[in-house]
Amino acid sequence: MATKKVDVLLVGGGVMSATLGTLLSKLDPSMKITMVERLDHVAHESTDGWNNAGTGHAGYCELNYTAEDEKGNVEINRAQAINANFEISLQLWTSLVNSGDLPAPKNFINPTPHMSFVWGEKNVAFLRQRFEKMSAHHLFKDMEYSEDPAVLNEWMPLVMDSRPAGEKVAATRVNYGSDVDFGSLTRNMIETLKKHDNFELLLSHEVSDFLKKDDGRWSVRLKDRVSGESKTINAGFVFLGAGGGALPLLQKSGIPESKGYGGFPVSGQWLVCTEEATVKRHYAKVYGKAAIGAPPMSVPHLDTRIINGKPALLFGPYAGFTTKFLKKGSKLDLIKSVRVNNLLPMMDVGMNNMDLTKYLIGEVLQNHEERMKSLRDYFPGAESDKWTLADAGQRVQIIKKDASGRGKLEFGTELVAAADGSLAALLGASPGASVAAQAMIEVIERCFKAQLDSGWKAKLKQLVPSYGESLINNAELLGEVRQKTLSTLGLVK
Ligand SMILES: Cc1cc2nc3c(=O)[nH]c(=O)nc-3n(C[C@H](O)[C@H](O)[C@H](O)COP(=O)(O)OP(=O)(O)OC[C@H]3O[C@@H](n4cnc5c(N)ncnc54)[C@H](O)[C@@H]3O)c2cc1C
Repeated sequence: MATKKVDVLLVGGGVMSATLGTLLSKLDPSMKITMVERLDHVAHESTDGWNNAGTGHAGYCELNYTAEDEKGNVEINRAQAINANFEISLQLWTSLVNSGDLPAPKNFINPTPHMSFVWGEKNVAFLRQRFEKMSAHHLFKDMEYSEDPAVLNEWMPLVMDSRPAGEKVAATRVNYGSDVDFGSLTRNMIETLKKHDNFELLLSHEVSDFLKKDDGRWSVRLKDRVSGESKTINAGFVFLGAGGGALPLLQKSGIPESKGYGGFPVSGQWLVCTEEATVKRHYAKVYGKAAIGAPPMSVPHLDTRIINGKPALLFGPYAGFTTKFLKKGSKLDLIKSVRVNNLLPMMDVGMNNMDLTKYLIGEVLQNHEERMKSLRDYFPGAESDKWTLADAGQRVQIIKKDASGRGKLEFGTELVAAADGSLAALLGASPGASVAAQAMIEVIERCFKAQLDSGWKAKLKQLVPSYGESLINNAELLGEVRQKTLSTLGLVK
């Protein structure tokens, strides 16, 4: 059994590992990096263009990022944090386009106005308050608001066409929102990495086990899924960027920080329309309010998508339940992830989330006409035969213990890292790929502290000019970086 020695092992060929590999190879080109992917292609799980919604999440349109508190005040802190984090991704992509490491931006990012749309007195009052708070902050100063059906008809003709007369409606719009083909972005980053002598990509190889050695390095076992041959890689640092597969691998690592975590898989589906005449009538991502009991990532939205250069419309997501942690995973994934240390939190979550369970069962049992009915809330004139159902990727939501030791279901993303910085895993899926740059900078901050202090900070600042400063607090800096990112990435006309 051959053993290879590397500095960094990236497990998984999705947007997270690709972003971390790109950052590390820029910070230290001499670093030996191996990426291992169980499938025969990279970016074929959640990162694939059709497996996610491709929204460049910036908090402009997603109403679940601006919840109301018990007094009815709209909270904008989460939207601010997500917006500032998305700006980090935009800056990194801008640097990579400028250095020729990424191709022309239209290959992976396209301008698509981000809109929120609501109907009914109560929802209109919510959206008005949300707009007033958000547009007062520099991050959202260009947001527009209207309750005028004629204006809304200009912004989103498909949505306004044939709506009930006299219906109370409102919308907000940010014109420089984006649609991102994270699959294309990732494939391009990995193609660039492959040009480096110190980078190796092993496709059709699955990581199966880990052993921490006395010298602090990891001995990682992998299997070639084509030949059946086993291999061992000796790595100084391991990143588990395995998407839904990260939790089982984290558990196998045995690091104390992995204890108590569980996962709850939620699958997704879209209605897709590729008929040219319909596709041409909509140019936006229009997000609405989630149904009662729906998980926060299930807010309905009608989107313009450009995947592999081809435009389409997408509506959803419709949630579903499966026990798989990866789209191309095994039905035994959920049961195999149960451990003594996460059994109670998982049972708590099962018992305390009946609303979610009912919602998922309802979603799974829907037929095409029922799905079309939800679509018609956003596109009243939608014709059933022009829309087909497509499977999206898997999201494994995090289950962890709360302060009282009970199980809690979380809908965000969380980085779990070993205390000695030798291993890190990314769990969860929202806001996901949009904040990949910030999430991977956090990996570097937690696991490469010595290198950061001896020169990497300055290099990071070249890649992400706002690095180390707050875009939430610094309006002038935001103005400078946004002007550069929007123009380089072609997000403003
Ligand atoms: C329905 C849906 C909608 C979404 N919408 C958006 C959106 O609009 N905007 C947004 O920013 N994000 C969105 N996301 C989230 C986003 O897609 C994910 O956060 C992101 O793609 C995760 O990237 P990743 O690299 O962590 O995982 P993945 O892309 O899943 O990649 C993990 C890779 O690891 C491989 N792997 C797994 N186990 C092993 C193993 N043992 N050995 C080797 N390889 C392994 C897998 O095959 C896979 O290729 C959405 C996700 C879903 C499911």
